[in-house]
Amino acid sequence: MKLPDYNEERKRNRETEFITVNPTINQEYLGKKYFIRTYGCQMNVHDSEEIAGILENLGFIETDSEENADIIILNTCAVRENAHDKVFGFLGRCKHIKETKNKDLLICLCGCMAQEKSVVDEIMSKHKYIDLVFGTHNIHELPNILMNLEPGLNIEVKSNEDNVYEVGENFKRDSKISAWVNIMYGCDKFCTYCIVPYTRGKERSRKSSDILKEVRKLKELGYKEVTLLGQNVNAYGRDREDEISFAELLEEVAKIGIERVRFVTSHPWNFTDEMIDTIAKYDNIMPYIHLPLQSGSDRILKLMGRRYTQEEYLELFKKIKSKVKNAAITTDIIVGFPNETEEDFEETLKVVNECKYDGAFTFIYSPREGTPAAKMQDNIIKEVKEERLQRLNKLVNEYSNMNNKKLLDKTVDVLITGVSEKDPNKLCGYTDTFKLVNVSSGKRTIGEIIKVKITDAKSFSLDGIAE
Ligand code: SF4
Repeated sequence: MKLPDYNEERKRNRETEFITVNPTINQEYLGKKYFIRTYGCQMNVHDSEEIAGILENLGFIETDSEENADIIILNTCAVRENAHDKVFGFLGRCKHIKETKNKDLLICLCGCMAQEKSVVDEIMSKHKYIDLVFGTHNIHELPNILMNLEPGLNIEVKSNEDNVYEVGENFKRDSKISAWVNIMYGCDKFCTYCIVPYTRGKERSRKSSDILKEVRKLKELGYKEVTLLGQNVNAYGRDREDEISFAELLEEVAKIGIERVRFVTSHPWNFTDEMIDTIAKYDNIMPYIHLPLQSGSDRILKLMGRRYTQEEYLELFKKIKSKVKNAAITTDIIVGFPNETEEDFEETLKVVNECKYDGAFTFIYSPREGTPAAKMQDNIIKEVKEERLQRLNKLVNEYSNMNNKKLLDKTVDVLITGVSEKDPNKLCGYTDTFKLVNVSSGKRTIGEIIKVKITDAKSFSLDGIAE
């Protein structure tokens, strides 16, 4: 058993090695069915694509129902408190299936929650029906871990990872249109509220040659869009003397000629002029940037360890808007961080009023065990946090509605990604600025970029007619 250890997770001092992993068929698993449920961010979604690829290489086949599965994998997220309840709710359902239908069912939990000591302690004391807990750094070891499973609860959580594992083409991608491409792993910023530097390890960049090879292959396969993934994409290459910068990488990816190039997430710190110029220079780099603010108050930003002031953030925001034509910018904001006064919160509203974001993910602060902020007194009462969130959301929605309305009667390019969830007679897709559009169309154009005239604009989506 290997248990999570935050002291180990803090360490950042070893060299990165690049290791190629290539799982192969195991007769024992041929025809067995797997089911994966994913919570959380794009990183987790892409990790699930990697886990699915590994399982299929071993001989498993996918099922879309947990009832029929031989192995269920819950890929979890540790960023928000309510994710924990959802995961344990679903685990209860898995336990019921195991007890009533399939006693050989393997129940596995992985992802960021698996890296949390408190979660693993809870599993060890109350959820022994789980067969395997494996960490974010153990994914590539899955074939070996499965082969060596002992009866009962197995815990394989590596707490420190310095290496980059290349799985080549061994992903089972969810989409044939739009692909995630990891460019780096981990985070070294240690914002005081965030669990990611502990659960995902140190910042380590993939080799640019491997990333470019993967994007070229995706182009050959007909993908229309790639999204470069990292907790802080602008830190790309900074951990290696022999590597290019993120701006240079972005340029090389754009030159491959895939129709749409995106990236998430960029920290406002280290967002260079070179990056802005590259985004502005290439038509196929989409003018959409997610730029987390978190708070507009300098005092709270300092307590959060965010490394920028309100003034520096606004300067960067304005620079992006002035250089990148029609840029849409979205953000993340936390309300009710320890010691946040009404004046601090009003500073956040002030920034929202200045930036008039295209959208924002807004959250009430909740402490994550093991982080420095969890040692601060969580001294803002629930009612105040909720009231602030409501005021913030009202403002954020007004601006996103206002920005969406600017597109009314305009014709925009939309990459059609599937059938609309709202109306099965419509298609849906995204503008270059990552706005969701429900499209009336006489033709089935999934996977194509088409011209759409916008006929209605709401806060969270647009309606349009294919031209
Ligand atoms: S930059 Fe801060 S908020 Fe983002 S992942 Fe790293 S520590 Fe967390």
